[in-house]
Amino acid sequence: NYVIFNGNIIERSEANVDIEDRGYQFGDGVYEVIRVYNSKMFTATEHLERIILSAKKIGMELTYTVNEMKELLTQLITKNSLEHGTIYMQFSRGVAPRNHPYPPSDVAHSFVAYTKEVARPLANLENGVKAILKEDIRWLLCDIKSLNLLGNVMAKQEAVSQGCYEAIQHRGEVVTEGSSSNISIIKDGTLYTHPASNLILNGITRRKMIEVCEKDGIPVVEEPFSLNDLNTADEVFLSSTTSEITPIVQINEKQVGEGVPGVLTKRIQGLFDAAIESECGS
Ligand code: PLP
Repeated sequence: NYVIFNGNIIERSEANVDIEDRGYQFGDGVYEVIRVYNSKMFTATEHLERIILSAKKIGMELTYTVNEMKELLTQLITKNSLEHGTIYMQFSRGVAPRNHPYPPSDVAHSFVAYTKEVARPLANLENGVKAILKEDIRWLLCDIKSLNLLGNVMAKQEAVSQGCYEAIQHRGEVVTEGSSSNISIIKDGTLYTHPASNLILNGITRRKMIEVCEKDGIPVVEEPFSLNDLNTADEVFLSSTTSEITPIVQINEKQVGEGVPGVLTKRIQGLFDAAIESECGS
């Protein structure tokens, strides 16, 4: 099993993270998760452009271009014979004596990437999942895919400890996003999803979903929606790289619609499948 470690492909057992890596000590860095189907990366350009942008937003100028990263990641997929799974990658601000201010800009970023075999979540896609509601207590730069995930981790843990798959977060009355996914609702045939702003991560799955819906004539409204809208929605679903388009059939103790995946959600799943197939084959 091979990993990318500071630009080189090496055995995982050879990779050693320094105890003063700023990613390890401060969560000072950014990451991405990219889906691989049939040994091909799905929406790789979008993910790689996003990690460059996330880095820029925390004052890190990555030294890799999208194409350089793509080339390295493709080599890693081949080396590991990865067919269906994910690539996790992260850049931290590098190794320096522990001190809050950024180290000098000539300190090299730490770049790590590795692969994992993951099957598509077929049972969840088919049957849907349960979610809880949770006040969104995270910071105000949720558009950055930062290594600091404590708020997300705590929200997810609360969901899991209640036998649920996801925590739907809200700031007061406004629904923001899941702990590791974006949330959309369907009401009277229209899809509503929180606009890309500092309060959510602008998911690549979310963007692809909007694209395929608009192409198929499903009306999309990118506006904040309320807890009341969520409670009275016909259908609710989450979207993410690993969970794709997963129906939500129960929130806290209340069924969504009939308590089964909705008609439009299933149609969007079909459109999303077609997008995967056209980019990565079937
Ligand atoms: N929102 C958060 C907080 C996430 O962690 C993720 C993905 O892990 C998403 C949204 C969905 O983003 P994407 O579709 O790019 O995976």
